[in-house]
Amino acid sequence: MEPTRRATWFSRHRGVPLFSVLGIRIVADYSWFLIVALIAGTLTLGWFPTELPGRGTLQYVILGIITAFFFFASVLVHELSHSVVAVLSGIPVRRITLFLFGGVAEITKEPADPRTELKVALAGPATSAVLAAIFWSIVVLMGDSTGRPGLQLAFFYLAFANTALLVFNLLPGLPLDGGRVLRAVVWAVTKNIRRATYVASMSGKAIAGLLVILGLFAILSGGNVIAGLWFIFIALFLRRAADTSYRQILLKEALGGVRIMDVMTPDVVTVPPTISLAELVDVYFLRHHFICYPVVDGTRPVGVISIRDVKHVPRDRWSETSVSDAMSSFSPDTTLRPDEGIPAAMQKMAASGLGRLAVLDGDRLLRIVTRRYIMSHLQIRTDLSG
Ligand SMILES: [Zn+2]
Repeated sequence: MEPTRRATWFSRHRGVPLFSVLGIRIVADYSWFLIVALIAGTLTLGWFPTELPGRGTLQYVILGIITAFFFFASVLVHELSHSVVAVLSGIPVRRITLFLFGGVAEITKEPADPRTELKVALAGPATSAVLAAIFWSIVVLMGDSTGRPGLQLAFFYLAFANTALLVFNLLPGLPLDGGRVLRAVVWAVTKNIRRATYVASMSGKAIAGLLVILGLFAILSGGNVIAGLWFIFIALFLRRAADTSYRQILLKEALGGVRIMDVMTPDVVTVPPTISLAELVDVYFLRHHFICYPVVDGTRPVGVISIRDVKHVPRDRWSETSVSDAMSSFSPDTTLRPDEGIPAAMQKMAASGLGRLAVLDGDRLLRIVTRRYIMSHLQIRTDLSG
């Protein structure tokens, strides 16, 4: 049971939660702090002293930090705009994870049609274009004779960075926004999401190849070695992500015919709602080694109790607290019907953070479905087809 708990912990808490906007949690992956420090450091130690010589160290530090802050705010606003359009189109977004190469919105399901895909994909670049226009306008309005060259330089950097974000994201290959635009267009024309994803994914790999060539050129021509390495690093990341997006579609297709009833665990141990938590721990957790049990009152399934629920109750109250007091009641978001598909199970597991869900047929508990059981089922299917 230990690996399951750890896997759940890892997938739910990787990174540092920052804050929430519109019900979307903003989480910073550990790698993100590295890039923030790198950008702030480059601005403070390199860019500002070169462009604006003869100032005090403190001024460079302040300018560097302010500029880095607005740069990362720009990236976040870009990512948020994708999410807001997704939510408005009926696609729930749980959280945005900021990491080394920007941000990923954890969109819990794929857009249902090319038009929605296009709207969600274009929201980010449109926002970056607006931000770039705002920052360029400020630079122009401040004019040549500004008494604040430091601030004007900061705005210049932000204008340039947002323009670069816009152009880079519009490159027409997955996983970039431009790749999603390309996929939406091919999808609309061919009515075939698999072919559309294949085209956009191949295009993404071609773009990654070009970036590698550019990076090698920068290094071998005696130009900027750091920039060259950075290009290659980004290219490798893009290549992998392009591959993944195509494989996800193939997997989804392979799963098309699989129903929940095909991947249910062979047996299930249930507990009555009336026993105490102390008894639950002694008789069930320590004997059966499952970390989660459906609670059944007579023949009626009423909820589910897991180690997590038990741990919320102080240990000295385990003998006087009943299972029904501590359990989580069933809801459509935490249960499955036998005729649902695997994607539904994956979505509900992702959205609820639960690794196992009960399968109910009307008022009857059938069995449970666990993430690990689905994974091994998938493994066997892909091994057989490959
Ligand atoms: Zn984007």
